[in-house]
Amino acid sequence: MARTHPIDRYRNFGIMAHIDAGKTTTTERILFYTGKSHKIGEVHDGAATMDWMTQEQERGITITSAATTCLWREHRLNIIDTPGHVDFTIEVERSLRVLDGAVCVLDGNQGVEPQTETVWRQADKYDVPRVVFVNKMDKTGADFYRCVQDIIDRVAGKPVCLQIPIGAESDFAGVIDLIKMKAIVWNGEALGASFEEKEIPADLLAKATEYRGKLIEAAVDMDDAAMEAYLDGTEPDAETLRRLVRTAVQRRAFHPVLCGSAFKNKGVQPLLDAVVDFLPSPVDRGEIKGIDFKTEEETVRNPTDEDPFSMLAFKIMDDPFVGTITFCRVYSGKVETGQGVINSTRDKKERVGRMLLMHANNREDIKEAFAGDIVALAGLKDVRTGDTLCDPLKAVILERMEFPEPVITIAIEPKSKADQEKLGLALAKLANEDPSFRVSTDQESGQTILKGMGELHLDIKVDILRRTYKVDANIGAPQVAYRETLTKKVEIDYTHKKQTGGTGQFARVKLVVEPNETGKGFEFESKVVGGTVPKEYIPGVE
Ligand code: GDP
Repeated sequence: MARTHPIDRYRNFGIMAHIDAGKTTTTERILFYTGKSHKIGEVHDGAATMDWMTQEQERGITITSAATTCLWREHRLNIIDTPGHVDFTIEVERSLRVLDGAVCVLDGNQGVEPQTETVWRQADKYDVPRVVFVNKMDKTGADFYRCVQDIIDRVAGKPVCLQIPIGAESDFAGVIDLIKMKAIVWNGEALGASFEEKEIPADLLAKATEYRGKLIEAAVDMDDAAMEAYLDGTEPDAETLRRLVRTAVQRRAFHPVLCGSAFKNKGVQPLLDAVVDFLPSPVDRGEIKGIDFKTEEETVRNPTDEDPFSMLAFKIMDDPFVGTITFCRVYSGKVETGQGVINSTRDKKERVGRMLLMHANNREDIKEAFAGDIVALAGLKDVRTGDTLCDPLKAVILERMEFPEPVITIAIEPKSKADQEKLGLALAKLANEDPSFRVSTDQESGQTILKGMGELHLDIKVDILRRTYKVDANIGAPQVAYRETLTKKVEIDYTHKKQTGGTGQFARVKLVVEPNETGKGFEFESKVVGGTVPKEYIPGVE
């Protein structure tokens, strides 16, 4: 069997956002419009397509980083889900490592929010090309132009509008496509509502012309010939303009901005077009760095089927139907079921038993996977997040993912001997899945200590222990894990929940912990930087 799509028709991308900006809704609509998901449940009422785990639905947050495959305009889109909550920046980080581009979803009313800033910085660090989707244009207070300014002011981005909205709040009707210079107007707000291309309304013509001017000026900067033609009075045609914007996105020269309302089903199809037109394919991203397994020399692979096979495990999950599955991105070459491979990170042999392609509503068993693919493998023996699997004869260790040290600890005490046994097994598994979750034993008390990136991170692990593994245990109060990990200054954002007993209240706290001059003690300083709990409720915080 051969490839169904050439590699330059792959788009591996993530959707990044502050919690509640509409990432889940946008993802669901994308899956609907790409035809793979016909059962749309509103988010948070228990039927979200991407959020598999019950507790994610209950808490209304996305923890896992599953990948879903869908098709648009003869391109294969792999959507890598990234979580929106501050405590899971590590999850964002790992997905950023395997994707080639991203859609950054903003709440049209809230603009750039704290977690948008965090993920934006992370995307900068990994050099991820991105487009921005200003969502919730139907919401009271939505202001497209303020959001665009926010991108400049708050994350030092370079927004260039590809669209401007037609109306806002309850009058939001559609968008003006500044490349085509046409209005796109939706006929109603129902799922799957049709849209029409119309002439630009007279009252918006001046604004559209102004913003098209800005777009063209930014775009022609990408190409000498286009610039010369433009200076001679010839504007680039639509096709040239798209090519120039594509170049700009790949070079991170600017960030195209689109808008819509995922909830009201407006703007999602043009967003999909933008993913295809502007986000890079694996080929555009170029060579993949690694270290030769034998010689330990730096080496590169090309994202082609011809180069030796290599893939990176980026997410391990428990699947109710298949058991443990390992999400991998194939970087080079081709792999078949039944094939023997090496886990070059651990120098262990593995066999590819079963490979699945995850669609929104079904999973497809596949026999072969190619460079660019994101596949789920079942039945691997000992693979951890960040490991490389590859051709045993031409083994490489792909560039590793970075995992920050966990900084918060809690003690856990099983209530019975049976719980103790269940706990041991469960913790081994959880630590394997999540490199930022560690388990140790306190030397003095003999207690089991769990370490994580924040309180919510640990809360969720405890929840999984109770729910999935049926472990009954007492949990101690969270503490800062300075004793073992503090050798340099550590800055963390974590979420401090409670304090008033009200549910859903939280504060985002920034904690800076620094070893003092003696090298034995430490200094620490904390500050509330967001959230809904007044800071006077949080002890020890200024
Ligand atoms: P996530 O946390 O980023 O995944 O955000 P969700 O997709 O779960 O959306 C958060 C809330 O905003 C939900 O109640 C959605 O129904 C709502 N929402 C999402 N998109 C829109 C939109 O375009 N307009 C409006 N008014 N609400 C939206």
